[in-house]
Amino acid sequence: MDYDVIIIGAGAAGMMAAATAGRFGARILVLDHAKSAGDKIRISGGGRCNFTNMYAGPDNFLSQNPHFCKSALSRFGPWDFVEMVDRHGITWHEKTLGQLFCDNSAKDIIAMLLAEMKTANVALQLNTRVSNIRRHKDGFQLHANERPLTCRKLVVACGGKSIPKMGATGYGYEIAEQFDLNIIPTRAGLVPFTFQGALLEKLKSIAGLAVPSRITAGTTSFDEALLFTHRGLSGPAVLQTSSYWTEGEPISLSLLPDLDLAAELKNQRQTKGGIGMTRALSEYFPKRLATLLTEELHCSGNLADHSDVAIDALVSQLRNWAMTPSGTEGYRTAEVTLGGVDTNTLSSKTMEVKSVPGLYFIGEVVDVTGWLGGFNFQWAWASGVACGTAAASN
Ligand SMILES: Cc1cc2nc3c(=O)[nH]c(=O)nc-3n(C[C@H](O)[C@H](O)[C@H](O)COP(=O)(O)OP(=O)(O)OC[C@H]3O[C@@H](n4cnc5c(N)ncnc54)[C@H](O)[C@@H]3O)c2cc1C
Repeated sequence: MDYDVIIIGAGAAGMMAAATAGRFGARILVLDHAKSAGDKIRISGGGRCNFTNMYAGPDNFLSQNPHFCKSALSRFGPWDFVEMVDRHGITWHEKTLGQLFCDNSAKDIIAMLLAEMKTANVALQLNTRVSNIRRHKDGFQLHANERPLTCRKLVVACGGKSIPKMGATGYGYEIAEQFDLNIIPTRAGLVPFTFQGALLEKLKSIAGLAVPSRITAGTTSFDEALLFTHRGLSGPAVLQTSSYWTEGEPISLSLLPDLDLAAELKNQRQTKGGIGMTRALSEYFPKRLATLLTEELHCSGNLADHSDVAIDALVSQLRNWAMTPSGTEGYRTAEVTLGGVDTNTLSSKTMEVKSVPGLYFIGEVVDVTGWLGGFNFQWAWASGVACGTAAASN
């Protein structure tokens, strides 16, 4: 055998698995078709990489089997990754909601993983086309730029389909299909909503404005910022909700959910009853949004013209502004791919395929998808460590 372990994909999960397995003395080769390792890490978190979340737990992940991620996450949690980051002298900060970012640059995380791989004697081969994967006696055979290579264990860490421009291919799903593994249907997650027709024209008129909101899809809600765009809706609350949205279903917007707007307007009415509704709403919303809301809610006239009942009705509409997206921006801008290799086919302890000993799937290609906020990297690290530890042994 040329190698103990070959890993396809030098992304977050693949590099972590390689560094882990190499430390046990295994001969490891990482292959990637890209010209540099960790490209998604480099662009993540606006260039500062939201590398984990302090509060990461199984509830922050979507999967057909919500229990699957528990084992790996419990053995390699956020503070284990922070320990590695600290050891490499990378300074970091909590931005909000437990989201940890590099102070300096996402490139520091890539440099750290490459350094860990070097210490563990891992070989890395970039610009490499992988093909012809086959089972081989005691392991696997594949072609790397047409050169045949053999290994005892094969790890698939090719990521999902999101952002093809960054090298995403869906190759991991093809490998899974080749070995007859079930794939949970994939779709874009953590992605902006798009709209059409008259509603889109309205949203365009307020593009660029952001407002604290609660967005609900089905029974799941997220409280974070909402951003109006030229295509529809974006911002953290929208991205989060998109992972729970079913095509064709409406979503519900509650603007300023933490403000008792009805009480505010009633108070304002006592001293400034002569002002128009747009001006009254402008106290709480950007002017262009206040203008649109006045039209949408059909609440012309002065504030004093509105009874308590009318104000309550108006605010209740603002608490449940229903609209139906025509779709999402798709894989072109999605941060993640929902669905993937069915977790029922994998061991939750090792990420090894139950029916194909020696074959492993880790990271985003697996049907485990995190919320926005550092959870997806935490899954990449945790599944990488679980697999790297197991693949290096026996
Ligand atoms: C814009 C953006 C920002 C993000 N920000 C964050 C964030 O701040 N925090 C967070 O937790 N998550 C973030 N994510 C999600 C996160 O990047 C992914 O969940 C994570 O990178 C998945 O790790 P992975 O190793 O499974 O896949 P990837 O990191 O995608 O790595 C897969 C690797 O496989 C290689 N590959 C693919 N096909 C082939 C092939 N055919 N042959 C050889 N190699 C191949 C790719 O080149 C790539 O290097 C972001 C995603 C995007 C798109």
